[in-house]
Amino acid sequence: MNAKTIAVKWHELFSRYAEDLYPGRYTLTTCFELAEKGLEIKRLAKEKGSFIAVHNYLYPEFHEIADKVGDSLGLSFTVREACAKRIDFESVFFMGATAKIIVGDSAKVFTADHSSILGCSLVFGTDYQWIENWKKNNPEGILITYINSDVYTKSISHFISTSRNTDKIIAYAAKLYPDRKILVLPDKFLGFVMKTRAIEILKNEGMNINQDLIDIYQYFKGEYRAACYVHAEIGPDAAEIAMLENNDAELIIHPECGCASSCLYKLQTGEIPNAKAYFLSTEQMVEHARNSHAKKFIVATEKGMVYRLRKEIPGKEFIPISEKAECRFMKANTFDKLLRSLMEDRLEIVLCDDCCDPKHPYEDEQVIHIQKSVARKSKEAIDKMLTIV
Ligand code: SF4
Repeated sequence: MNAKTIAVKWHELFSRYAEDLYPGRYTLTTCFELAEKGLEIKRLAKEKGSFIAVHNYLYPEFHEIADKVGDSLGLSFTVREACAKRIDFESVFFMGATAKIIVGDSAKVFTADHSSILGCSLVFGTDYQWIENWKKNNPEGILITYINSDVYTKSISHFISTSRNTDKIIAYAAKLYPDRKILVLPDKFLGFVMKTRAIEILKNEGMNINQDLIDIYQYFKGEYRAACYVHAEIGPDAAEIAMLENNDAELIIHPECGCASSCLYKLQTGEIPNAKAYFLSTEQMVEHARNSHAKKFIVATEKGMVYRLRKEIPGKEFIPISEKAECRFMKANTFDKLLRSLMEDRLEIVLCDDCCDPKHPYEDEQVIHIQKSVARKSKEAIDKMLTIV
């Protein structure tokens, strides 16, 4: 296909599935420019043996040039199986870093911009000093760290968890270490929902644990408030309002959402019926929407996910919970940056022996380092999670 044909196809696709998400962004002229760049990206990727992994939350044009679209951990395992020489990981930096610690030196992994630009409020909000103090006060304490975190925090954690399994990991750790404190970090909304669900799991197994043994990281570090800022801004009442406006819809909600805690409370009190709201990871949202009898869904997560759902499941209706649910870090990825990365082989994520500060590794215009020992310990924590759930 040439650029003109692709532009017409994309214009039709984006007008149908993304006009309300990104009003005015996709004119035919813009689609033509994107199509030309997209063709050049695919040509270079083929020449360099690159696999392009794209996170759900990126702009629709990235979904169209991807070898695979998905969530952070799912993509990391996909790229390991792909056995490509090079991986262009289009998301935020910590996700590319997770992919690198999983694939090791079997492939080169590239990110399209610096870690300060392709950042994350969960990473910026993690305070090492606060964690060290917690560990000092709880020398036997167990750290459970959500996968959306920096490599150093992963490396000092006992378990890594995901939005699919944090509740099961907490329950597992509580059974294994019944008298030891547990800290769940770095997202307070996910932490609260998962703590509540872990206690339910334990109760169903006949165990009553002291709830005070499970701490949730809630430290405010400047503007960062122990939360994904995108999900936090969705607000506590958003789900209820959206459900009132769409009483025939199901709510599919990411546990990081600002409305997650109040939604969970309302589910427990029966204010929201159980059969109407589901806490799901982004991959689970696709599975659930495909298999559910419902025809309409309110999607409570970053709105990039709505484009994927509409495109993959065209017979059903997907409504973003908020037009503002957009991650500026994810959306800092552009075709121009990816083209530059492919042309100049920048910025490669490299495992190195020389960095002396594991918390602040070396970064320049060509490479971003991860200390090898830090990568090894992080991978051990991820592997441990995989043996449990
Ligand atoms: S959506 Fe939230 S968790 Fe994901 S990268 Fe953006 S700020 Fe971080």
